[in-house]
Amino acid sequence: MAAYDFDLFVIGGGSGGVRAGRLAAAMGKRVGVAEEYRFGGTCVIRGCVPKKLFVYASSFPEHFEDATGYGWSVGETKFDWNTLIANKDKEIERLEGLYQKGLDGNGAKMFKSRAELVDQHTICLTATGETVTAEKILVATGGRPNPMSDLEGHEHCISSNEAFHLEQLPESILIAGGGYIAVEFANIFHGLGVRTTLIYRGNEILSRFDKDLRSNLQEAMITKGIDIQFSDTISKVEKNADGKLSVTTKAGNNAEYSQVMLALGRIANTDGLGLEKAGVEVSSRGAIIIDEYSKTNIDNIYALGDVTDKVQLTPVAIHEAMCFLETVYKDNPISPDHELIPTAVFSQPEIGTVGMSEEEAAKAFSEIEVYKAQFRPMRHTLTERQDKMMVKLVVNSADRKVLGAHILGPDAGELVQVLGITLKAGCTKDDFDRTMAVHPSASEELVTMYSPSYRIKNGERV
Ligand code: FAD
Repeated sequence: MAAYDFDLFVIGGGSGGVRAGRLAAAMGKRVGVAEEYRFGGTCVIRGCVPKKLFVYASSFPEHFEDATGYGWSVGETKFDWNTLIANKDKEIERLEGLYQKGLDGNGAKMFKSRAELVDQHTICLTATGETVTAEKILVATGGRPNPMSDLEGHEHCISSNEAFHLEQLPESILIAGGGYIAVEFANIFHGLGVRTTLIYRGNEILSRFDKDLRSNLQEAMITKGIDIQFSDTISKVEKNADGKLSVTTKAGNNAEYSQVMLALGRIANTDGLGLEKAGVEVSSRGAIIIDEYSKTNIDNIYALGDVTDKVQLTPVAIHEAMCFLETVYKDNPISPDHELIPTAVFSQPEIGTVGMSEEEAAKAFSEIEVYKAQFRPMRHTLTERQDKMMVKLVVNSADRKVLGAHILGPDAGELVQVLGITLKAGCTKDDFDRTMAVHPSASEELVTMYSPSYRIKNGERV
């Protein structure tokens, strides 16, 4: 008889947990997976997928406007929030079903319950009180929005979780934050016709992105009509008798909104998980501490994805799960590679970015070349839209390696996936130069910027 009920028990049925559980089960391991909310996790249920569907929904007004330049008369348009929510929920349900089928079909046992550690090898399923044992445990419990409990009136605010299920589209919204979730939702709500304000403590949104991406996106958002209030934060939220929220800011401003959304970072889901009972160490931010093979300080307990607070992206959690399987079950130790992760911000216009920003590269190398093109995308030449597209390559002068590629404009997220391959392969600017352009396209600029726009030598622009 086996010493444990399971070879592997996964806590958390999100991007990382489901991938690890499904493939371990497919290898013949006895796998249990517990999920306290819905299989699919943040990405499928209340993150990437519903968000992208909302982005599509919010982009239609601009398409309707642009159509007239091409001879179309669109006529009267009308948006119905409840239809969007219902159709989105149907798609999420379908995906949730696929995630469950993947686990079930490969023989993993699913538990629709919260799971907590009792000791190094024992897990309690709180829905039934049942305990199970496992030789190895993988914690993939993800994260949750920071509720900002110290903020007076935080209980009146929503997070991205609730934004996906609002009973009605608000007339106005104040979104607090300057990260990609705040920026994406500001564009979504604005596109859907909501009077949208973004409040951010810094003086430029998306602080870790290349400066041209930041400033050009910010300018485009302001031009569209999104009100961005910089260098300020919310100090108090009060609910009025009519249900409106009255917001006071640190700078002393006061205004009313139908909704206030807090997008001020995410917290690792480790509270009450029983980690201390198993002796698992966490950081001061509550994230699980792991080594380069996703192992905690306890030999049989591993953790991956957002709960480790490294890079909070779905493909990263999935990649870490694949590395975990190679390392633990295939005798092929692989450490997750977090270098050169291509990523998108689904703002409008969209950002696609990979590698070093100009500022990072200028600090890391004695001389860099910056190639930059800013132009009106061809699709807007027959429309009234003044949106500019920007493509930018950051190159190390010494060996011509492309260190960073940054795009702002239509389909930037799609383009940067391919650019990510070129950077990963170590392509040089000369490789870009000898690649034939695709014409007419916006991306041809990537291979036709023959002279640098400027150089930065020892931190100085020359
Ligand atoms: P999760 O997917 O969060 O899964 C963890 C699961 O564990 C959850 O289902 C949770 O219910 C469950 N759980 C927690 N505690 C327990 C417990 N004790 N017992 C049982 N179950 C438990 N990433 C991208 O790459 N692209 C995007 O466009 C993107 N957009 C996003 C938009 C939003 C609004 C948000 C919030 C996130 C977005 N992300 C995006 C990030 C992405 O969703 C996460 O990085 C990814 O889901 C992390 O996967 P994970 O497996 O670590 O955790």
